Amino acid sequence: MTDVTDHEVLIERAAMARERAYVPYSGFRMGAAVLTTGEEIVVGSLVENVSLGLAMCAERVALFACVAAGARPQALALVSPRTDGSVTFPCGACLQVALELGGPDLVVVAATTDGEVQQAILADLLPRGPRKA
Ligand SMILES: [Zn+2]
Repeated sequence: MTDVTDHEVLIERAAMARERAYVPYSGFRMGAAVLTTGEEIVVGSLVENVSLGLAMCAERVALFACVAAGARPQALALVSPRTDGSVTFPCGACLQVALELGGPDLVVVAATTDGEVQQAILADLLPRGPRKA
């Protein structure tokens, strides 16, 4: 597992993407950044819609951008407010997409807007998610 300080730039980029989140309904600003296998950083912002089911999490936007960049994720960071007092980690759907693209050892870094940073590997967050062979 990588040290949290290694991901400062990734967190900074996720925080910038968070500022650009389109959240007129929830006001819950989230941004994400992926360090790709090509050593690039791609970002994603939460995007909502008046048709609420069409909202897309910042993490999946960033993971899809990683694919569009011709790479795979090696670390995923997100920055958001706390959820019910706790550090916000990716939702189940984003964890599943991350598992598909990055595998069980993908590093996930979750940072709050008040500066707490926690880190885990995907296998700890989604231990029994369906995986390709
Ligand atoms: Zn999600």
